[in-house]
Amino acid sequence: MKLYVLGACCMLAVSATKAQTVPAAEVSRIISVLAADSLEGRGTYTPGIEKASLFIESEFRKAGLSPLPGVTDYRQAFATAGRRIIPADSAAFFPGARTLHNVVGMIRGTGRPDEYVIFSGHYDHIGIIESKGEDSIANGADDDASGITAVILLANYFREHPPVRSVIFAAFTAEEIGGFGSRYFSRQLPADSIVAMFNIEMIGKESKFGRNSAFITGFERSDFGTILQRNLEGSTFHFYPDPYPEQRLFYRSDNATLARLGVPAHTISTTQIDKDQLYHSVDDEVETLDMQNIADIIQAIAVSAQSIVDGKDTPARIAPER
Ligand SMILES: [Zn+2]
Repeated sequence: MKLYVLGACCMLAVSATKAQTVPAAEVSRIISVLAADSLEGRGTYTPGIEKASLFIESEFRKAGLSPLPGVTDYRQAFATAGRRIIPADSAAFFPGARTLHNVVGMIRGTGRPDEYVIFSGHYDHIGIIESKGEDSIANGADDDASGITAVILLANYFREHPPVRSVIFAAFTAEEIGGFGSRYFSRQLPADSIVAMFNIEMIGKESKFGRNSAFITGFERSDFGTILQRNLEGSTFHFYPDPYPEQRLFYRSDNATLARLGVPAHTISTTQIDKDQLYHSVDDEVETLDMQNIADIIQAIAVSAQSIVDGKDTPARIAPER
């Protein structure tokens, strides 16, 4: 009995320390901007997504992130021509090409700067859709303003905990219309230099396992999840394997391109995708989210990643898809 009481006391202490690091008020502030009606659901190619980009860039600047090597700002521009992805400098040769950009920043590693760990989410959503009552804005508070909020707050976290490996923070565009942003991003660095990718998608609500939990897609494909969980020993947080394998989420999110190249690239989520009535609706609003739970998840991701960003753990490569 005494041992049990001691254990509970220590676990409480761990969560109390964590709560101070990622404040729920910051989660609320950032999600509220990204999911505001004024951003009109962040549809790709709309003024709303441009507002989202400007906000993410300002947050990256505040966090002290550097642009990627060889460029001077956070915008990673490219263009699409139909289903093709083309470099922004050749867009002029493709009639109807449209220019897009990811928002990407980094913290250079103190010891192994040429090895990269990626934290990512997507900042687009589906924009204006068929109206329900007076509302026609698909705000995408969970999908994926919650993931971008995590990316921003992880940038702030790792500024305070300087990493040994370089850490890249990426907000992808055009996920909802074909994953164009992550597909372009994933080809800009040699896959061999990328140690791991933490893609974060829909962490706004409790997972089917309850508070203080999330699941990892493709858990069984590398030892990424096992490493993360080991780093959380002593806390009450738990990462589970994806409970919805029939949904093929592993290949439906922005981790897919790098995973196909063998990178241990996984998506962390809490979505109850099989029964979430708000998914891709006008009701995916800030008011439906649990800010403290999101803050706890972000904190858990930061702590669970520590041995990887510090170069002590290197997750096994994923078998490339044939
Ligand atoms: Zn999404």
